[in-house]
Amino acid sequence: MKNKIIILSLLLLNGPLAWGATWEHDDQWKVNHRAEFIKEYLDEFCFYQEPSLIYRAIKDVLLRMPVKDFLNVTNRRRPVLFTEFYVDGTARFASSSEFIVNPGDPPCCKEGFTLVKLGMSLGLARTPGPIEGVVAHELAHRVLDSIRKGNVNCDAERAANALIKKWGFRKEFKEASQLFGQKKGDPPGCQEVRHEK
Ligand SMILES: [Zn+2]
Repeated sequence: MKNKIIILSLLLLNGPLAWGATWEHDDQWKVNHRAEFIKEYLDEFCFYQEPSLIYRAIKDVLLRMPVKDFLNVTNRRRPVLFTEFYVDGTARFASSSEFIVNPGDPPCCKEGFTLVKLGMSLGLARTPGPIEGVVAHELAHRVLDSIRKGNVNCDAERAANALIKKWGFRKEFKEASQLFGQKKGDPPGCQEVRHEK
């Protein structure tokens, strides 16, 4: 399966397609393969590509999160797709993306998939840190399976934030809150519990 952004599609035709599937079942997984796997994975499942800061942030989060959770969110049977999300320009009204399965591609999405929509406005960040906070938060929802378990409430938000701090994204969480958190006049949202660890 390949994501198709019109221009990128030409560049992606020759990706090493079977790599992910082999890797997925490899119990002898080696840590130094992780960066390489992430690159292949994001070629397929991420609409942002180099040199986007958003791409870099996604890559960093996948590199740093615990192995078990990393394997969960990059499982081809239920992959996380990272897609863009427009708030201005004509694309804010509508846009389409196409996933194309090539012959010989390992099977994908037997158990569904998770769509993580990352707004272009995240590009307001000057460094990947605040974006990493946002990406980690969304991946935490997936690891906690918030949506499938019907937990779409403030408790789920706090649980996701607690998990990313456990993963080591405390600094990035803070940066994300400062840059993308609630502004004066925004509708009331979920308050963080102050004594939360
Ligand atoms: Zn959330």
